[in-house]
Amino acid sequence: MILSSPHVHTQFCDGKNTAEEMVLSALEHGFQSIGLSSHAKQHFDHQYAMDTEREEAYIREVRRLQKKYEDKIRIWLGTELDLFCCAETGRFDYVIGSLHLIPTADRILGVDNTKERLLNICDDVFDKDGIAMAIEYFRYYGAYIYAQRPHIAGHMDLIRKNNMEGDIFDESDPRYRKAALNALGMVRNSGAIIEVNTGAMARYGAKTPYPDRFLLEEWLNMGGEVILSSDCHRAEHIMTGYAQSVDLLLSIGYKTVKVLGTGNALFETTELKPLR
Ligand SMILES: [Zn+2]
Ligand SMILES: [Zn+2]
Repeated sequence: MILSSPHVHTQFCDGKNTAEEMVLSALEHGFQSIGLSSHAKQHFDHQYAMDTEREEAYIREVRRLQKKYEDKIRIWLGTELDLFCCAETGRFDYVIGSLHLIPTADRILGVDNTKERLLNICDDVFDKDGIAMAIEYFRYYGAYIYAQRPHIAGHMDLIRKNNMEGDIFDESDPRYRKAALNALGMVRNSGAIIEVNTGAMARYGAKTPYPDRFLLEEWLNMGGEVILSSDCHRAEHIMTGYAQSVDLLLSIGYKTVKVLGTGNALFETTELKPLR
């Protein structure tokens, strides 16, 4: 099985390590390819995203690393794009489409924040109806991925991040599932690959990756393809959660996953093999 991750953050955005440290960690873990994916610049909040200057420096650095390590690992230049980004996507080898923010009538809501802030949003905007909030999230997610047509659809059910105890919304509720499945259909029609994202396993103690099992089951029925991704912000998390995620995918019936290519093609297919 080829090891790789297309979703890696560095000091050019909100990652803790340099791009080169991420590449070295990937090499130590036996990766054959890796994609850097700094948060694309947007019209506001340059704290976690790149600005114009940092974008230039990021592109220069990844191209330098590509050359420096070309005999050891295939490095790809990616970016993680959001609804409010203003980056020129043609400058990158590939794009991950993600939704961390949803607009409402009078403000932009961050769904990737603390639980307290998500609960405030739920109270203020959705009259304490957590499922209504999740429905709104999935509505924007599906529409965004369909319109943007990224190569990879990022952490599709990120709204679950602060719902690990199931106290904000019931993930088995038919209204929740219908909204999530609708979004899944939009992703399928966009042609994107869905990432099986282990980021919350490394950072927030989640037991399983995004997206939830029922979505991965339906995605397989649809004939969709998945790519394993660590969405890591630290070098030591380059493949945290991969072994559990491979077991999960095998138990659902997946035989292969996509990985970033080791040569000229952006994606290759690799056979799933237990990692433990
Ligand atoms: Zn993200
Ligand atoms: Zn990310």
